Amino acid sequence: MAERKQYDVIIVGAGPAGLAAGLYAGRMELKAVALERLAPGGELLNTLDIEDYPGFEHITGQELSEKMEAHARKFGLSIDYHEVEEVWSEGDERVVRVEDGTEYRAPAVIVTAGGQPRKLGVPGEAEMAGRGVSYCAICDGAFFKEQVVMVVGGGDSALEEGVFLTRYASKVIIVHRRQDFRAQAVAVAAARANPKVEFMLDSVVDEIKGDESGKVVAVTVRNLKTEAVTEVAVGAVFPFIGFTPNSNIFRDHVEHDELGYIYTDTGMATNIEGIFAAGDVRHQLTKQITTAVGDGTTAVVAVTKLLEKLGHGRAQDVAEEAELAAEVQV
Ligand code: NAP
Repeated sequence: MAERKQYDVIIVGAGPAGLAAGLYAGRMELKAVALERLAPGGELLNTLDIEDYPGFEHITGQELSEKMEAHARKFGLSIDYHEVEEVWSEGDERVVRVEDGTEYRAPAVIVTAGGQPRKLGVPGEAEMAGRGVSYCAICDGAFFKEQVVMVVGGGDSALEEGVFLTRYASKVIIVHRRQDFRAQAVAVAAARANPKVEFMLDSVVDEIKGDESGKVVAVTVRNLKTEAVTEVAVGAVFPFIGFTPNSNIFRDHVEHDELGYIYTDTGMATNIEGIFAAGDVRHQLTKQITTAVGDGTTAVVAVTKLLEKLGHGRAQDVAEEAELAAEVQV
């Protein structure tokens, strides 16, 4: 018989959305656990410098992770280190099964499992992630002012983010493995019209090279037609070759878009009562730390309302105490 653990709310993932949800759940006096397979912080841990989180003109991803974790723990969040294998609904309970068979049970689950930018899989990419290899132009573009940067891919993200990067970079080289672009014509036209954008077509990245401090200095690009190899000096590489949301853990059908991003309402609720989604795993316009934190907050407020509606445990006690206090004052 699998071990069972009972909570008011289970949070899948401890990135910014999960840690914000944990903080708010603690403040709402809910018994909450976050399940994390690696270390708290999520994508923050792949980010060296952050300059777009309000209140922090500059902070490293590691530092912000540690602060968010400590803050959530202060309000009572537990973090258990597990790989989540499956999430499902069983009567009034939502169940999360982890790799050792333990079943975490609660009336509500918030899935903040994020996702992964698709990787090139070339030498240097993993080693220099956060040190010149970046998967977020909005987050990191400003660090490469007046430098030559490279973008990889031929979809809407590559073309749009490539143009965005011209705000900072002296030149943006878009490397794409074909002549034709997957991106919409309007995005291709905007990139072609931009004097700071250059293209290397029919080409792939073979290697990303760093200096002795481990920061990107050059990229080896190979032309697939001629096999000619060129070493291009750049300060950063932004692969935009797709993103895969971690939304494949559901036993029941949770509604999602064609790429796997989960649809939610404005309270982060999915189509299954008691299952919520927040952060990068959710269908939305952008993937920022600020929006993830907002999603996590909203999800907990919605969970609290659901628990009150269900007459569940502490949330109900808190609601009843508040009502009683109001009556006493009258
Ligand atoms: P995408 O459309 O899947 O494009 C990925 C690009 O990366 C393709 O050009 C692909 O080349 C290339 N690629 C894939 N694997 C590669 C590899 N291993 N090495 C080199 N190149 C590789 O991804 P996306 O641009 O992230 O867009 C995802 C979705 O979001 C799309 O539906 C897109 O339309 C949408 N989106 C829309 C907007 C907008 O409407 N404003 C903005 C951004 C994204 P091939 O073409 O040769 O396969």
